[in-house]
Amino acid sequence: MKIAKFGGSSLANAAQIKKVCDIVLADSDRRIIVVSAPGKRTSDDIKVTDLLIATAKARLNGGSYEDELNAVIARYREICDDLNIEDTLPDVIETLKSAAASDTTDAVTYVDTVKAMGEDCNARVVAAYLSSIGHPAKYCNPKECGLFLEHDAAGKAKILGESYDNLAELAHEKCICIFPGFYGYGRDGKIITFSRGGSDVTGAILAGAVNAEVYENWTDVDNVFAVNPNLVNNPFPITEITYDEMRELAYAGFSVLHEEALYPVYVRDIPVHIKNTNNPSSKGTRIVANRTRYDSLVTGIAGERGFLTITVTKYLMNHEVGFISKLLEILAEEGIPVEHLPSGIDSITIIARKKYFTPEKEEIVINRFRNEAKAETVKVDRDLAIVMIVGQAMEKSVGIMARAASALSTAGINLRIVNQGASEISMMFGVSEEYCDYAVRVLYKELFRY
Ligand code: ASP
Repeated sequence: MKIAKFGGSSLANAAQIKKVCDIVLADSDRRIIVVSAPGKRTSDDIKVTDLLIATAKARLNGGSYEDELNAVIARYREICDDLNIEDTLPDVIETLKSAAASDTTDAVTYVDTVKAMGEDCNARVVAAYLSSIGHPAKYCNPKECGLFLEHDAAGKAKILGESYDNLAELAHEKCICIFPGFYGYGRDGKIITFSRGGSDVTGAILAGAVNAEVYENWTDVDNVFAVNPNLVNNPFPITEITYDEMRELAYAGFSVLHEEALYPVYVRDIPVHIKNTNNPSSKGTRIVANRTRYDSLVTGIAGERGFLTITVTKYLMNHEVGFISKLLEILAEEGIPVEHLPSGIDSITIIARKKYFTPEKEEIVINRFRNEAKAETVKVDRDLAIVMIVGQAMEKSVGIMARAASALSTAGINLRIVNQGASEISMMFGVSEEYCDYAVRVLYKELFRY
């Protein structure tokens, strides 16, 4: 059994929905289909999810939300008309209206309830269309199917373990199941959504629940590329990549799937296959536990801004037991995740993300490092980008670091941090933010244009 998830651009209008249904019907193993809300039809269009968020906000602000809601209804009306399933429209309109008019006492739940309806209505539409052309399909409600979530301490949606057993039942359905992505239900029966792009997570959960042979993630590009296609022309396509490589690249801003979508398939060793709805015959990119092929020495290069360094010095630091753990304890108490910890004999640099280390936190942390850990100097530098070179095949080859460092030095890019060793499949460079994109281009030219 295959789980196929289709993103918003794959379902943006009737023509796209027909393509999706052709793909579904082309393989009888595609029995559980996860759908996003209709996305953008053109580059300046607005996603249905954004229209729904605007609807919810208008209501919460106490004004009329009619225009916003009508814009959503208009999208579905056009889709239903073009698919000749006008009978489905009243159900869709009722679903949207009742969510928009629901209880606003808890604003978070209210917004989640409204914005989840993009996926919900699209699942109803796709199921109705497939049935109308003679292929029995059913809309699956996440509550009835038992997709239960809760909020973690940071307010993020987290799956409850029992959901996997509940959802495994879908494997016994006789018809095609159309499951809305992006949301589930709390134990109290209230809707909870994942963060944006969360239909990827729903697909991964369902793939895990039924122990699928593959999790297909259908989008609008032929492959994942070795580097951000906005930075170089015609980047090298990735046909196969491991979960680990993907994680390393995602860390430096390589966004292909939702961050939480890999875990449910990773732990069950289910391959992910990224495919293009607009070009189904293209090979796509497979994300696997163990690679069978290497098309290049390096798999991908990515860079991300938004980091900072906190450099702490103390004479005889290496003799003092517990000094580093004290620093880490303070950061943990202040809720600041630590990314890397390169260290010297009497100094240590803590790399963190700027979004967690606000200027207010900076003052608190510096004082606590000085007073509680008795640090001698604490210096914060808010200008760091991380550039990662990732590739499983690098393990077996000599000289990549030398080539990378030499190319960067020829380009006049100062390397502030270098880290290789913690993970054998990646190397990391810290550069000033202004050099981030340039460094990625230089490395790509050096390592892929050989
Ligand atoms: N429709 C939601 C979004 O735009 C979820 C998704 O498409 O995965 O973020």
